Amino acid sequence: MMFRWRKVVCAVARSPTLICEHSRVIRRGIKTVSIMNNKFKLPSRYGAGEESVWVEYIQLAADYKPAVNLGQGFPDFPPPNHVTKALSEIATGENCLLNQYTRGFGHPRLVQNLAKVYSPLINRQLDPFKEILVTSGAYEALFSTILGHVDTGDEVIVIEPFFDCYDFMIKSAGGVPKFIALKPKSTEGEQTSANWVLDEKELASLFTPKTKMLLLNTPHNPLGKVFTRQELEMIADLCKKHDVLCVADEVYEWMVYEPKKHIRIGTLPGMWERTITIGSAGKTFSVTGWKIGWAYGPAALMKNLQVVHQNCVYTCCTPVQEAVARSLEFELARVNSPDCFFVSLARDLLAKRDNLVRVLRENGFEPTVPEGGYFIVANWTGLKNKIDLSTEPDKYRDYKFTKKFAKEASVLTIPPSAFYSEQHKHLGEDFVRFCFIKKDENLALTEKLLKEWNAKKK
Ligand code: PMP
Ligand code: GLN
Repeated sequence: MMFRWRKVVCAVARSPTLICEHSRVIRRGIKTVSIMNNKFKLPSRYGAGEESVWVEYIQLAADYKPAVNLGQGFPDFPPPNHVTKALSEIATGENCLLNQYTRGFGHPRLVQNLAKVYSPLINRQLDPFKEILVTSGAYEALFSTILGHVDTGDEVIVIEPFFDCYDFMIKSAGGVPKFIALKPKSTEGEQTSANWVLDEKELASLFTPKTKMLLLNTPHNPLGKVFTRQELEMIADLCKKHDVLCVADEVYEWMVYEPKKHIRIGTLPGMWERTITIGSAGKTFSVTGWKIGWAYGPAALMKNLQVVHQNCVYTCCTPVQEAVARSLEFELARVNSPDCFFVSLARDLLAKRDNLVRVLRENGFEPTVPEGGYFIVANWTGLKNKIDLSTEPDKYRDYKFTKKFAKEASVLTIPPSAFYSEQHKHLGEDFVRFCFIKKDENLALTEKLLKEWNAKKK
């Protein structure tokens, strides 16, 4: 898009006759784009979202070719063998109909298996055909939930830092996000994600008669916070008091480190009827590229999501849904075994987390130890005398730091201010996010690169 704009402007500069009345560009009688009256600018209802940390940092990865990429969250090692085997068998199998459209709200075998996985976890029998919607990744589950429930002028409470698309989706639905930041308590000992807390009074003050929804992400990206029962009860009580819908983004539900336990807010008393919970096959099976997600909740609330989904997406990729269904069946058959991927993944990740926490501490960062998820947020300001950020043109210090650090240390990370609203971006500037769902050899390489970088700076 940027490129096309530039081309038009250059063409105009070369030949002023291309500009005619009303600032339109006419070429051989064909109207192309209007360059001055902003006719083709992004519709103002979006309000935000033109810039994306993912677009920018994936391009940086392509440009800098860092030795290790601990930026975007995805595993750099293979998913479980049974998962990829299922997909390859489907692709080459006898049932050619698995290459065709399937039921729009979710492939029957998948919704049936999702009901089998979640029913015991939420202590109620989920109706696979009325209470579950399969979506194009958790992204679309969020999109269909927000677009399906938020009306013009509705207020939505968002906890910062937040997964960046929430803001965009709320604004595109005509809603008004109301932000509240988790803040770190100062501590003498180890900083953990449990120390990042909400101020109860501040949260209560955000609820107004216009509040329609609260978005909760637990386990949390990027902090790794796993909300406690007490914290969830405080949120639930406010939602009930003000008749507010709770959207629980639980894509990291399987990545919770002992002794912490993931609690689903939809299981709290009086919450099922006002909660929509979101999950992701990408996170569950380490296949982020498969882009299958889901939302579940009471049928009356799911109806609105279905309307958005049936008109925007209609149905998701059939062979991938079938493969996710078979993979869930495989895990259900060994659900009480330590080999079940629902528990083995977190066990493997725990060692990686502890290793990276150590490496970061030894190299001048101050990490917040995550209780869940696969990211570590670390304070980098102890290194500020070792890095010259004056050459970096970005507005926020964490963007400057991550870019300069990628160039100097060859380790790519993500700037957390991307997870804050405009007015609170300063809260993220002292931090940097590292992803640790990476091969041990890449974590070992990170240690080597950080040591070398520090040694050069002495
Ligand atoms: N929510 C959160 C908090 C995430 O980190 C992600 C990761 N992309 C998503 C939703 C979207 O998940 P998916 O890749 O399944 O669309
Ligand atoms: N959830 C992943 C992360 O936070 C990927 C995000 C994305 O690609 N948009 O890194």
